[in-house]
Amino acid sequence: MGKSSCSRKKEDLVCYAYDATARTYLPDAVVFPGNTEEISAILNLADSEGFFVIPRGSGSGMTGGSLAVSGGVILVMARFNRILEIDKGNLIAHVEPGVVTGHFHRAVERVGLFYPPDPSSSEFSSLGGNMAECAGGPRAVKYGVTRDYVLGLEAVLSTGEIIHTGVQTSKGVVGYDLTRLLIGSEGTLGIITKITLRLLPLPEDVKAMTAVFDKLDTAAEAVSEVIRRGIIPRTIEFMDNASIRCAESRLKIGLPVEAEALLLIEVDGKLQETETLINQLKTVCISSGATGIKIAESKEEIENLWKARKAISPALFQYAPDKINEDIVVPRSKIPDMVRKINSLKEETGLTMVSFGHAGDGNIHFNIMLDKKNKTELKKAEYAIDVLFDYTLELGGTISGEHGVGITKAAYIEKEIGSVELNLMKKIKKVFDPKGILNPGKIFPTL
Ligand SMILES: Cc1cc2nc3c(=O)[nH]c(=O)nc-3n(C[C@H](O)[C@H](O)[C@H](O)COP(=O)(O)OP(=O)(O)OC[C@H]3O[C@@H](n4cnc5c(N)ncnc54)[C@H](O)[C@@H]3O)c2cc1C
Repeated sequence: MGKSSCSRKKEDLVCYAYDATARTYLPDAVVFPGNTEEISAILNLADSEGFFVIPRGSGSGMTGGSLAVSGGVILVMARFNRILEIDKGNLIAHVEPGVVTGHFHRAVERVGLFYPPDPSSSEFSSLGGNMAECAGGPRAVKYGVTRDYVLGLEAVLSTGEIIHTGVQTSKGVVGYDLTRLLIGSEGTLGIITKITLRLLPLPEDVKAMTAVFDKLDTAAEAVSEVIRRGIIPRTIEFMDNASIRCAESRLKIGLPVEAEALLLIEVDGKLQETETLINQLKTVCISSGATGIKIAESKEEIENLWKARKAISPALFQYAPDKINEDIVVPRSKIPDMVRKINSLKEETGLTMVSFGHAGDGNIHFNIMLDKKNKTELKKAEYAIDVLFDYTLELGGTISGEHGVGITKAAYIEKEIGSVELNLMKKIKKVFDPKGILNPGKIFPTL
């Protein structure tokens, strides 16, 4: 592989010591493999020498998945950055995992195709990271998540063996579904080195609108009502007042900063279909209590709305130096209950809480902004998270819709997963990685 593809210099190591959790762990070394055989050789060596290997895409993970929490070698996948083939005739693409998600979106759109999964981090996240976390995003409400678009994978096991899973065809059911097992496995079962993705034809038209509400729970009720009426927009994003202010302070595009909540709704399809849908949505939102509706008039206006939505997460630090970020999901009909719970927790603890997210699929990004050095605040925040997770599960939800478990949710996994199921998962990890060298300390901290 050569010396230039590997480093133990501190100035190189610090560049790979962090992710979006803002926690830092210095690895022992960082390597930049250029092909599958090199990864196989590295894992072969790790298997015989017993060092840890941690795969890393773009490091935008929200749960510490790419951090070397127990030391080891960070395997940076950035050189795996080729789109190998876009096969229009079969509606599939073959890609390497280091490709940036947004680059891939644009490449397929240029030839009239569509790859729906669109994490808000798409301008910098990698497809490999998206696979390993089973990334979602705003469009999941209509199109589902990453796993729904993966047909097959090439991966390297902890022993260095190279495996090929799934199919290159639009369906296939031979043997266990190893592809789905690897999707969402957070780099703990294998290193993904090639991906075969399913594509769709690019929708003919997209329309977007915003709906303003003077009460948080009215907005939540409106989301439920849209779904109840059987209307499926491609996104229904939700922002509370603190999120609206955050986005506006960054972009200054005239967002309604006095509103308690804003819904950003997008529809796609044939031109006639989108006209009908957007008008239906306007009617539902008004009858559910929206105080203002604005239909975007140009592509540029739609782009600005998305810039605002995507600016929220990084802009939150104007409220406090630290953030605890959760991405709970509740059944869509229960969104109003969850919003009321968040409101009551806010009042009870006095903490700064900001909620936004993919309301269309019940996925609320709940953020507590605090100074972690302030022990009283930290204690209150931990209490709030406990209450929130318990209530999420009581409503039939899940504690993570798309960010994964990593290190930040590992302590809570037993709240959701039963002991028999958890043991089964631990056994699966042992089968794939008997010596525990792949991404240790993630999902199951006690392995
Ligand atoms: C502002 C912001 C907005 C976000 N919005 C969303 C959103 O809307 N939806 C969403 O789902 N997520 C979102 N995220 C979270 C994050 O971007 C996703 O989890 C993304 O999929 C991570 O990709 P990455 O390339 O940065 O992966 P990394 O952070 O580098 O790694 C994530 C995990 O994948 C593993 N991994 C990486 N590459 C491979 C590989 N080739 N083989 C095996 N394992 C691998 C790592 O070990 C780690 O466990 C957001 C993050 C930020 C900062």
